Amino acid sequence: MKIDSITAIPLSFRFPEGQSVAMGIGTARKRDVIIVKVCTSDGLIGYGEAHPGRSPGAVASVINNTLGPLLLGMDACNVVGIWDLAHRMQLASHGLGAGAALALSGIDMALWDIRSKAAGMPLYRMLGGVSKRIPAYAGGVALGYQSPDNLADEAQSYVDQGYRAVKLRIGDTTSNDIARITAVRKALGSDIAILTDANTAYTLADVRRVMPALAELNVEWLEEPFACDDFASYRSAAQIDLRVPIAAGENHYTRYEFARLIEDRAVMIFQPDLSKTGGITEAMRIAALASAWRIPINPHSSAGGINMASTIHFLASIDNAGYFEACVSRVNPLRDLFGSPFEIGQDGCVAPQEKPGIGMDVDESVFSSFPLIEGLGFDKK
Ligand SMILES: [Mg+2]
Repeated sequence: MKIDSITAIPLSFRFPEGQSVAMGIGTARKRDVIIVKVCTSDGLIGYGEAHPGRSPGAVASVINNTLGPLLLGMDACNVVGIWDLAHRMQLASHGLGAGAALALSGIDMALWDIRSKAAGMPLYRMLGGVSKRIPAYAGGVALGYQSPDNLADEAQSYVDQGYRAVKLRIGDTTSNDIARITAVRKALGSDIAILTDANTAYTLADVRRVMPALAELNVEWLEEPFACDDFASYRSAAQIDLRVPIAAGENHYTRYEFARLIEDRAVMIFQPDLSKTGGITEAMRIAALASAWRIPINPHSSAGGINMASTIHFLASIDNAGYFEACVSRVNPLRDLFGSPFEIGQDGCVAPQEKPGIGMDVDESVFSSFPLIEGLGFDKK
């Protein structure tokens, strides 16, 4: 089963005026996804998803013009060998670093779709897992900066749908953040889990200021207080209050960067994104590394439905699975391009797809409705 072609299709949409969400990295104006299509010599087709890295045309070009030609003709089932060659030839030396990891992620995901289709199995079975209920939290581009009352109403609307956990956007002023979390805790009561995400907008002083309140309000984690490479601040923040663990990983790439996080013992909840960190092959390795340290995996899930469906299969296949990040964004057509990738139950859980492969029926006729939009995806802060 040889790889015949590898094609990246970048897709975008723009938020209608007034329909976006403000958070620690600014206000999103558009969102993008890169669909990766791999065809094999015996007629199988696999689809994966690569994160756009805020430059979707560039990442698509890495796939179409660099990694694609490198991998053509290889055995599509040889995901370990393909990963190794792409790492050696493109990531390890002079090769775009994170950009190449994004591109490789989408290709690797498409190869797992092919492997599972060839075996006639849903992806979770290929990964050694079993169909089961996976707890989900209401996340994605949602629960952003707004008045505490409005935020509490929005959070309540997700609990009404079945969610038992919600993730609030913080990283505003610390007093605004605390007022919002307090309002949501009051509205939802003590049984609903509250998670928080600063999207890298905090300083160490901010963390010192909010930590007592986060602990008091029983917040389950503080996500990405700092930039992904600010290892020193992460180490310091982990010592401030052991009751609130620090989470990170959506901006960390490959097992090598997660190994550094383990060595530092600062981040105690890992959030690799399958469409960023090196694909399913690499996410399984990261999960195994973390398992040895009893670190739970709560993956970041990005914009598109193929990555979301893959993430649920992944969570059903590892022994240190945490929550699935369910995108509850009010405006995200990229989530539902090929049908809904998940359904929240009254138990607050989701389940993996049952069809062979990742389980999303890709209809390429929808691509023309979401042409690539280049340019800035966020307002400048
Ligand atoms: Mg985040």
